Amino acid sequence: MSLTQLLPAVHAFIAKPQRLFIGGAWQDASGGRRFVVENPATASAISEVAEANEADVEAAVAAARAAFEGPWRRETPARRGYLLYRLAELIDAHVEELAQLITLENGKPIGNARGEASSAANIIRYFAGWPTKIEGSTPPVSPASGAPMLNYTLREPVGVCALIVPWNFPLTMCVWKLGPVLATGCTAILKPAEQTPLVAVRLMQLIEQAGFPAGVVNLLTGPGSRIGAPLAAHAEVDKIAFTGSTQVGRQIAQAATGNMKKVSLELGGKSPNIILPDADIVRAAKGAADGIFYNQGQVCTAASRLYVHDSVLDQVLEELRKHATRHVIGPGLDPATTLGPLVSERQLRTVTGYLERGLQDGAELIAGGKRPEHLERGHFVEPTVFFDRTETACVAREEIFGPVLTVMSWSDVDELAARANDSPYGLAAGLWTRDLRSAHRLAAQLKAGSVWINCWNVVDPASPFGGYKQSGWGREMSKNVIDAYTETKSVYVDLA
Ligand code: ADP
Repeated sequence: MSLTQLLPAVHAFIAKPQRLFIGGAWQDASGGRRFVVENPATASAISEVAEANEADVEAAVAAARAAFEGPWRRETPARRGYLLYRLAELIDAHVEELAQLITLENGKPIGNARGEASSAANIIRYFAGWPTKIEGSTPPVSPASGAPMLNYTLREPVGVCALIVPWNFPLTMCVWKLGPVLATGCTAILKPAEQTPLVAVRLMQLIEQAGFPAGVVNLLTGPGSRIGAPLAAHAEVDKIAFTGSTQVGRQIAQAATGNMKKVSLELGGKSPNIILPDADIVRAAKGAADGIFYNQGQVCTAASRLYVHDSVLDQVLEELRKHATRHVIGPGLDPATTLGPLVSERQLRTVTGYLERGLQDGAELIAGGKRPEHLERGHFVEPTVFFDRTETACVAREEIFGPVLTVMSWSDVDELAARANDSPYGLAAGLWTRDLRSAHRLAAQLKAGSVWINCWNVVDPASPFGGYKQSGWGREMSKNVIDAYTETKSVYVDLA
């Protein structure tokens, strides 16, 4: 095994403790504390990062407020766009460095991390086009008096935004939220997950280098309960955008009611994927395997429930067994690896707990089901496929956030949408067929924010992303997210 050589810049970065970024200054946490970031492939320490406390939250919110009311407000839309383009170029110029940091702290295969880093530049570039295109309107109002009246609307930035992001796509999640913040003229306090703060720190350095005014983006690293909770409750925070578990999302929504801050939530999923009998079966099974095993299954849109038509069940199970056993499990820095470790010991315990409970619930094991024997250190687990005849096993119903697929069979197309929709979640759904009519009919019936036909996990900044039901509130990306970071002001002018 020859591991990808870390760049000298990455060695230098991880060798020194990283700090908070507040009001344009890098600083230690006010309590002087730091926490250790771990490499999930080896369960050993990589680096240390400042652990912010409540005083740092206050300072970061004050800095974001000052920037919002001050210099950032005075920048033109064109200048905001220019700064975003510069940031995109800087990300492009540092793809390898960012990718190595992602793999070090998250564990994912380096090729996937490179993809994440270059797509981050594209997302920022997409948002760079927005500032000069955020327009109001001139509604044709009809006053009862008949007096001539002009009405126009203005789109104004919502204000100070707290951005709380998870560890599964540590860079993508930051730019999905920072893109609309910076495009609309808001300011932010970014709180990465405690498992993956390093790439967020490096992104922050690039944001500083791009030339954004001090205080426009502030970075707080540390535990969610200590930093995330006060941000969610803070009276001077105008909006909170969160991606993570439904449980924490619920707490954030409750904490946000104090000042009725705007809330966007992107939460969990248990997404159904459907194979119709007329599908290209080989392609569909490959798509189903990729849909669950990508990113070690740590994807909110993971295709974790697979409904296969009776007539093709055996063939699909055989294909899935092949795909699961073909994976090369190992450290993400090994270019041969296709499935890295889970992010943490805690995540590993959660996933292996589900593997045991799945069997206890009577699900039949088709592939995987345990930790790989040749990897003693690190948080590795085999890609696993269950078949559940009853659709009642916990692995068929609960979000696992690991490489665990549960297959069910179906024969009655009239029951199919109801079975697929029988979940508290509604983030994504997919189907595989060659028949246009079935495809569009089912797409209309599925209660999910994204529906993928003959594909999975296609995401584009031009198209909205988000969940029905308990998968969230609001949409990210596209014009929808611009609306979510702006207030609309209606101005009446009496022309009589
Ligand atoms: P996971 O359980 O997969 O780690 P979480 O939803 O707990 O997912 O974490 C997502 C993000 O939410 C992380 O940045 C985490 O620090 C943060 N977080 C955790 N608990 C809270 C909380 N009570 N309030 C605000 N943010 C939190």
